[in-house]
Amino acid sequence: MPTAQRFRGPVLPDGEPRDLYVVDGRITYEPQAGAETAAQGWIVPGLVDAHCHLGLDDFGATDDEATEQQALADRDGGALLIRDAGSAADTRWIHDRDDLPRLIRCGRHIAATRRYIRGYAHEVEPEDLATYAAQEARNGDGWIKLVGDWISRDEGDLAPSFPADAFAAAIAAAHAEGAKVTAHCFGHGVLPGLIEAGIDCIEHGTGLTEDLVDAMVEHGTRLVPTVMQLDKFPEHAAAGRERFPDYAATMTDLYDRMPSTLMAAYEAGVPIYAGSDGGGISRHGNIAGEVEALVRIGMPAHDALGAASWRAREWLGVDGLEEGASADFVVYDRDPVADLSVLRTPSAIVLRGVAVSRGR
Ligand SMILES: [Zn+2]
Repeated sequence: MPTAQRFRGPVLPDGEPRDLYVVDGRITYEPQAGAETAAQGWIVPGLVDAHCHLGLDDFGATDDEATEQQALADRDGGALLIRDAGSAADTRWIHDRDDLPRLIRCGRHIAATRRYIRGYAHEVEPEDLATYAAQEARNGDGWIKLVGDWISRDEGDLAPSFPADAFAAAIAAAHAEGAKVTAHCFGHGVLPGLIEAGIDCIEHGTGLTEDLVDAMVEHGTRLVPTVMQLDKFPEHAAAGRERFPDYAATMTDLYDRMPSTLMAAYEAGVPIYAGSDGGGISRHGNIAGEVEALVRIGMPAHDALGAASWRAREWLGVDGLEEGASADFVVYDRDPVADLSVLRTPSAIVLRGVAVSRGR
């Protein structure tokens, strides 16, 4: 007989006090004779980082050792499910590691030629976009990532990476392979075509307007704003001000309106999920920071935590804490909804039924 472990306390999202048992890596609420109490506290379904990059640093792909450290940092921050929003490294080996977070890969970013961070993306011409979309759909775990817009040095401002018809063909090609599509979108111009073409998710979304929010609700489009990343807009504006004043003005304007833009989407009912944008220029292991950032712009704490836990798991098709589910959860010694700061000091992290974490 395997030894059962008991976890006792309010189980989120409803906060009902329960005894949760882990047997053979799975959750049961059936009382188990002889179970030892492993931890008590608030029990939260494994956190989800819906926009993270494993295998990337400032210069492109990292080696497996560095990637492993990134994944461990994310895990020790409570993120037990990661949607990787594009990586230059082949990280599918992570699927074979029971001690690393569950991973849903988008394959490699697809960007316009010389219109993205060097070393990150497949950089392609408009006529090749659909071919690459289909290829990354086959390489990824059911998602692909497009770079929707970026600075155009010719125009001196943010501009769509591709014409709308090329995006539409790419979205159709990925859908035909059974994959969903998301895109990096800072500005406004790229959004109408993507949403109309049936894109599944928008990353960042600072260029949204009221009518586009309505279109997202109508189409069921999701939003992962990565508020911590958006907080860097003033730096981008400052860096570009001399050579690209229009770009600097656009980024400043998007940043000033960012909280109201995102909250308009939230109020209208666009499902919003938490993404730390760890990797590249942000550090790993900070999904807690994004939950706090969502609350800062106005989301209620329970919804912001759900955006990084149960709601995101449901969206991505991964079980929560139901009977028989894999035991993936985090325990906190205070109520995280009442005090989000406790997200930085989990008292237990259980992944596939095993207590993990290197200590912090
Ligand atoms: Zn990103």
